[in-house]
Amino acid sequence: MDKLRKNIKSFIDILSYFKDAKTCREFLEEQRWHGTPICPHCGTISQKHYKLKTKGEYNGKYKCCECREVFTVTTGTMFHGSHIPLQKWFYAIYIFISHKKGISSIQLAKDIDVTQKSAWFMLNRIRYNMYDRMKPAFEDMTQVDETYVGGRNKGRIKGAQGRSLKTKVPVVGLLSNGMVKTIVVPNTDRFHLQTIIDVYVRKESTVITDGWQGYSNVKREYNHKVVDHGKYEYVKDGFHTNSIEGYWSHLKRGIKGIYHKVSKKHLWRYCGEFDFRYNTRKIDDITKFVMFVVTGYRRLAYKELLAEYEIWGNL
Ligand SMILES: [Zn+2]
Repeated sequence: MDKLRKNIKSFIDILSYFKDAKTCREFLEEQRWHGTPICPHCGTISQKHYKLKTKGEYNGKYKCCECREVFTVTTGTMFHGSHIPLQKWFYAIYIFISHKKGISSIQLAKDIDVTQKSAWFMLNRIRYNMYDRMKPAFEDMTQVDETYVGGRNKGRIKGAQGRSLKTKVPVVGLLSNGMVKTIVVPNTDRFHLQTIIDVYVRKESTVITDGWQGYSNVKREYNHKVVDHGKYEYVKDGFHTNSIEGYWSHLKRGIKGIYHKVSKKHLWRYCGEFDFRYNTRKIDDITKFVMFVVTGYRRLAYKELLAEYEIWGNL
């Protein structure tokens, strides 16, 4: 890692360091297996897994010595089953992580020379990974707030009363000690807000909210502090919800600026992206990049993405 950080300081270094598929694959093998291959099907760690050759050439394929299944270092990761070469994945991840504001699929397609459709798939797999790994546990002094994001139809459409309201998506956010987690919810009633607080915040911690009635049960198991914006209170006894409110304006500005419009269906992934960026803002790009490519275990099924692409592919 230290060696890597010394050698790689910019995108140019990424390009020359990860020069071909073999280098990328060996980098992942070294980082994930530390010299002894691990079968992702049964978990066996062994030097006895068989190396398989395709047309007389070895390119990272193993056959498990226990369960006999075939695997490579990318089996089950976000790179699994992708026809995009690993170096393009690495470039895409580095670009996406190091650009503070992310990147659109149109721009990424140009940068790494793939179709826009491929770039779109890649970005959504990357976002899915960002969302998946952001599971902070909240303890004391957690600010909780809710907001509405997006809305494709700003004004009301004639003959479709109320439709503009339907395109606004409610989101709940928790923030404590510089870590944030946002969750897209069907609505901000007491049931949803209380469930989220119960799941993410340790019991008996201090929870700070505004005066919305959806928080009325929080006091039962938490030290609930209410800052009543309706009464023009913004700081009460030193407690406030300014940090999570600041995060909302950051999130809304970001989504508007880069992605212009985000569909209801995709919003949770973009929230995951913004949470990830916020929570890792003090980590340098190389560390973040390595952390990300090495631990990218989960992938979004291609079929699942394809169905969404047909509906939302114009994003
Ligand atoms: Zn196995």
